[in-house]
Amino acid sequence: MKIRVFSLLLALAILLTGCNLLPDAGEQPREVSESSIWAMDTQMDLRLYGDTDGVVMAELTATLNRLDHTLSATAADSALTALNESGWTDDRDIVYLASNARKISEQTGGALDITLLPVSRLWGFTTGSYGVPAAADLEALRDRVGMDKLSLTDESVSVPAGTKLDFGALAKGYAADLCRARMEEAGLSGLLALGGNIQTVGTKPDGSDWIIGVQDPNDAGRYILTLRLTGSKAAVSSGDYQRYFVQDSVRYCHILDPETLAPVRGSLRSVTVVANEGLLADGLSTALYVLGREAGTELWRQRGNFEAVWIEDDGVVWVTPGLKDRIADGDCQVIEP
Ligand code: AMP
Ligand code: MG
Repeated sequence: MKIRVFSLLLALAILLTGCNLLPDAGEQPREVSESSIWAMDTQMDLRLYGDTDGVVMAELTATLNRLDHTLSATAADSALTALNESGWTDDRDIVYLASNARKISEQTGGALDITLLPVSRLWGFTTGSYGVPAAADLEALRDRVGMDKLSLTDESVSVPAGTKLDFGALAKGYAADLCRARMEEAGLSGLLALGGNIQTVGTKPDGSDWIIGVQDPNDAGRYILTLRLTGSKAAVSSGDYQRYFVQDSVRYCHILDPETLAPVRGSLRSVTVVANEGLLADGLSTALYVLGREAGTELWRQRGNFEAVWIEDDGVVWVTPGLKDRIADGDCQVIEP
């Protein structure tokens, strides 16, 4: 089915990249507080309604800064670096993330793999010294990667020497979950844009839907689809336009296929996942990018706990049926249930 819906309301400027926040009509500025910080390698924009004394904003900022430090794979004194050097941690954020990563990995046939850090390094994604590595150097890393390397208990994570973890695929979603929980506890609504991760929280003061935009992979200043979301939802995009290098006219993106140990090559430009939980949406967006549209569609049919938007390199946009009535603007095809 082909859909084309126009909305004059949405002829508005775009604010951010990835999934994007669009300005709201009729919002009540008196109650709005906004803050932008740099954390977890990205700009984070927080908009809260009703945080009159600024206490919750300060708490969210502290949470994001804590996670930035705990989960840094490059900072010498982070808890993640300690795990990657010693092979053991009882850090509670890392234990929670590792156990949830393992669940999502199992659900996606291993497409999500948090042990690929040495592989990312070899391709230059952690340093910016990009280049296609020698096949032998990649193969030499094989016995250090794989989700079977993780040993988890309720309180700890252990990995063998040489295995190194990276939570880049789901850390921002987890951060959004923690912020959402605190806002809900405080009775606040708002909108969080943590890089390409959007988290809506509660209901806008004027009762209208949240409007988010899905970025055009070819144009950071344009949205290809806009969606109306109700209540607390996470919308997370993974794509080949976010971090990549070009060598010999081939584009190599930062999302790696655990089977080939190489950047994903296929016809997908991006996947956006909409779900109730940020961690799930973030982990799935990365995994669905690895899987491609066909396998991702099959996963949606089996599990049904998320909605998704796939943008193909021919420019066609596919959405799951649950988003059909949520499209505010843009052309798309709806996948068969
Ligand atoms: P995202 O932007 O959420 O799709 O996550 C991409 C980041 O996750 C990359 O920059 C890597 O740090 C890491 N990563 C790359 N490929 C994978 C993968 N297959 N599974 C888990 N993490 C990955
Ligand atoms: Mg992700």
